[in-house]
Amino acid sequence: MLLPNCESYKIKMIEPIYQSTKEQRLQWLRDAKYNLFNLRSEQVFIDLLTDSGTGAMSDRQWAELMSGDESYAGSRSYYKLKDTIKDIFGFEYFLPTHQGRAAENVLFSCLVKAGDKVPGNAHFDTTKGHIEFRKATAIDCTIDEASDSTSVHPFKGNIDLIKLEQVLKSDSPENIPFIMLTITCNTFGGQPVSIENIRGVHKLSRKYGIPLFFDSARFAENAWFIHEREEEFRGKSIPEIVKEMYRYADGMTMSSKKDGIVNIGGFIGLRDEKLYKLASTFNIMFEGFNTYGGMAGRDMAALAQGLKEVIDKDYLDTRIRQVHYLGSLLTDEGIPVQQPIGGHAVFIDALKFLPHIKREEFVAQTLALEIYLEAGIRGVEIGALMADRDPVSRENRFPQMEMVRLAIPRRVYTNSHMDYIAAAIKNVYKRRESIRSGYRILNEAPILRHFTIELEKIPVIK
Ligand SMILES: *Cc1c(COP(=O)(O)O)cnc(C)c1O
Repeated sequence: MLLPNCESYKIKMIEPIYQSTKEQRLQWLRDAKYNLFNLRSEQVFIDLLTDSGTGAMSDRQWAELMSGDESYAGSRSYYKLKDTIKDIFGFEYFLPTHQGRAAENVLFSCLVKAGDKVPGNAHFDTTKGHIEFRKATAIDCTIDEASDSTSVHPFKGNIDLIKLEQVLKSDSPENIPFIMLTITCNTFGGQPVSIENIRGVHKLSRKYGIPLFFDSARFAENAWFIHEREEEFRGKSIPEIVKEMYRYADGMTMSSKKDGIVNIGGFIGLRDEKLYKLASTFNIMFEGFNTYGGMAGRDMAALAQGLKEVIDKDYLDTRIRQVHYLGSLLTDEGIPVQQPIGGHAVFIDALKFLPHIKREEFVAQTLALEIYLEAGIRGVEIGALMADRDPVSRENRFPQMEMVRLAIPRRVYTNSHMDYIAAAIKNVYKRRESIRSGYRILNEAPILRHFTIELEKIPVIK
């Protein structure tokens, strides 16, 4: 008999979570103005809001916290992290930052100026924000298959090389500071990028003399997909695949809150000494002195250990198979989820789940709220609320897809939690026709409104 896949670790410390009644949740939602960001964590039974900074550290990482070196300059923990980054990614230079967007802020302060174009595969929202804040443009060159939720392309995060070359040809190299490749591509649901595609992008970057950077938040999950899906790498180890991926990169930005398996932190990795020196100046200004940046010594030590653990094949098997297990439980029930399942989250297609709710009434938000009401599970809306208003017309923007994202924290929940989540969503699916109306906006901020928005339920007219 084939042995089932099971967790590659056992539990040494636990944190209680709390069940609640439907009546309680109804009241809490009213108090939260129907915004899941306004709930207290105690009001949530299973929290799938994000996989960022929500992972569980190992016993070895906790041990590292105790032996961290808090020296202002020349900390031992800094050198431990520096050696680990050199080992895993091959970068000679590195700068610690307090999280991923801080790494973007420092690097882009060196490289991006008004009028520039930065091509890539669906830049993450903070990446895009830091580009647009500098009055430059982020250009999405992802393959078309990425926006078709039923396409089962194995590497939906790939860049369309024809689209990329058009951008690179359209302007002089001074106005295209770099290409940004996000691995895995978060925006399209944690979809991986193949080495074949990385090589193609690298070839173009050399042809046009434009550096190539990797936005690396989920680099290890990307390597796992390459191992599973790219013929050439079937027999290779994860560390070997990561090395091959980064051979083609001139540098990286990292949110350590994802594949660093720590609760806060980030960094920049670089090959070029001149750029490192320039970035150091901004790092000292925005983050801190070069040997701690935005991080405590103990946090750098725990991150060094986390980076070693995240490229362990058994860990990655557990991690991604768990996400896929949840995805298959939902798919088997006929619940519409984005295919193929990505590395860190399951995305429910709300337009197909609740086709009778008007788009103006925020379909994905309506579904996310129903899932919370059903069983205390908190997902997140990726739809019209998050898409915000058009900056000029101030009309609501309605994106192609309305999704509820169920992001799975690393090493936090067990497969029986996945069973619970699937059962709850199945219950909502069964009663979907009884959900008669959505929500309207009471109050909203002028930008990034979804974090603080206040809503009210639209009464059903009989
Ligand atoms: C989370 C994330 C970032 C930003 O990192 P923070 O640590 O949240 O600041 C950048 N890029 C990608 C792909 C991410 O997932």
